[in-house]
Amino acid sequence: MAKPVMLIIDDVEMNREMLKQYFLNDYDFLEADDGDIGLAIIETKHVDIVMLDLIMPSLNGYEVLTRIKNSEHADLPTIVMTAYTDGQSEALAMEMGADDFITKPYNPIVVQCRVRNVMARRERDAKDLQVREMTHTLEHDRLTGIYNQETFIRKAEKLLQEQEHGDWQLSYWDIHSFKVINDLFGVITGNAILKAAAGYLQHVSKTSGGMCCRMGADRFALLLPEGAPDMEALIHGMDQELQNIEVTANITFFVGVYTIANARLPVDRMLDRARMAMKSTHGNYIKRYAVYDDAMRNQLIEEQLLVKETEIAVQQDQFCVYYQPVYDLHTREVVSAEALVRWHHPEKGMVPPGMFLPVFERNGFIMRLDYIIWEKVCQFLAWEKRFLPQVTPVSVNVSRLDFFNRGLIDDLCGLVRKYGLEPRMLKLEITESAYMDHPAQIQNITQQFRDKGFIILMDDFGTGYSSLNMLKNLPVDTLKVDMAFVREIEQDQTARILMRDIVRIAKDLGISTIIEGVETENQLRYLASIGCRDIQGYYFSKPLPTEAFCKLLQGA
Ligand code: C2E
Ligand code: CA
Ligand code: CA
Repeated sequence: MAKPVMLIIDDVEMNREMLKQYFLNDYDFLEADDGDIGLAIIETKHVDIVMLDLIMPSLNGYEVLTRIKNSEHADLPTIVMTAYTDGQSEALAMEMGADDFITKPYNPIVVQCRVRNVMARRERDAKDLQVREMTHTLEHDRLTGIYNQETFIRKAEKLLQEQEHGDWQLSYWDIHSFKVINDLFGVITGNAILKAAAGYLQHVSKTSGGMCCRMGADRFALLLPEGAPDMEALIHGMDQELQNIEVTANITFFVGVYTIANARLPVDRMLDRARMAMKSTHGNYIKRYAVYDDAMRNQLIEEQLLVKETEIAVQQDQFCVYYQPVYDLHTREVVSAEALVRWHHPEKGMVPPGMFLPVFERNGFIMRLDYIIWEKVCQFLAWEKRFLPQVTPVSVNVSRLDFFNRGLIDDLCGLVRKYGLEPRMLKLEITESAYMDHPAQIQNITQQFRDKGFIILMDDFGTGYSSLNMLKNLPVDTLKVDMAFVREIEQDQTARILMRDIVRIAKDLGISTIIEGVETENQLRYLASIGCRDIQGYYFSKPLPTEAFCKLLQGA
């Protein structure tokens, strides 16, 4: 094995020779009789330790030491040597970063011990550093540099045990449709988003005395003590942070919060609960976070039970369609209807979509279910065509997930053809937020639908972020204004003005409107006064089972 290399910088040759004698067996040597030469050697050759004389004619030892410490060789072990024993030069050299100090004349034992000690210490430090680096790699997420999940769980457990007092809060952050963002804008942008998000959470946890981690993919966890900023503020902060990244889509985080009631609960269970709460926000653009409660847990259990029964439900034809009529408020006639799915469960009775659609949106079953509903609606329209003097068109809901189905257009055209219908009889409702999720794709597909004669409704208008301004560029025939607006028009002047502007601007753009969720006479009167006509809501009718709707159309 090669010996370590000792560089001796001393202008007196005898001193150099003496030193070499002490280390003949253990070191190879390089020599310099001046500071400049010594520095040049350090620059060009491998050196393990420097023995540096302080007093030299041209460049003295202090200067050499300073230069070494300011260079990339700052870590090179350096022992200084001098004849002075005033204590001051020793102190000065040590302060300047020397590892040890030897006085002349040399005492061989002392010199050997000091060199050995310095080298041993260096080796220990290097090992420590290696261990620290390895631990860092193991504990941190490679992309974002914040803790990974395992580390977070371990450290959070410890932190919570040490500081049991006060209410801690664990939140679970998830980027909405991150996969789509990655697909649309590329992995580099996706990574930039993740890094920015991690940086923000890290900043928040550092300033509040908490901690955070990347759970994997686009999911993060944040543990904060009592007194940290509230969720609204945190989400707002995150939005601000992400605005700096140049993408045309909205990057939206949904957050689930678990307020830690029992600090002894394992942290991974707490994370489960925060995640449950997060999932409950999906599809809800008004409230971006939810707090875990027991009702949520029970509902999730219920949902999971339902999912197990999906296949049987399809086989036994338990999914059925309710029709909610849309009325013309002047003529009080039914002008169209919306098809709404129901699950006719053998034990639970009629289950509303809120109970199962969120799960189906997560597991993808929604695409199959939508097709089942569309087919039932086509059968219904075929019946209308056959037995009624005129066909009242029906709109169906198209889930955002359906747009991932490459055969979507073929599927719907195929159905319409199979039942001998014209496309305009089957209207398509696409939720506003879907337009925001992947604008180019949706626009392209909806345009193709329109070209084939389908009528496109933008559902839940006003809950997402699209401005009225954007409407002129979108292939949309009708706006369905979200219920939240109607609910507010009785109390809130701003909501009334907003509603009026929406209706007016839509009209200017040649887009018709349907107002959803109209329940009272007052609402109806206001809507009439601003020129609305098409109304869907409990005021006129709740969603009706197929037979009841048939009767309504037959005028019975
Ligand atoms: P949506 O498309 O906005 O449908 C309107 C919802 O508002 C329906 O709830 C309807 O029953 C309810 N509603 C109508 N008028 C009133 C009113 O005056 N007051 C109140 N409080 N509510 C009213 P529903 O049937 O529970 O459907 C909920 C959501 O589930 C729908 O919201 C839609 O997004 C989704 N959905 C329903 N059926 C389907 C389907 O076949 N496929 C897909 N993909 N989604 C569906
Ligand atoms: Ca709808
Ligand atoms: Ca709607």
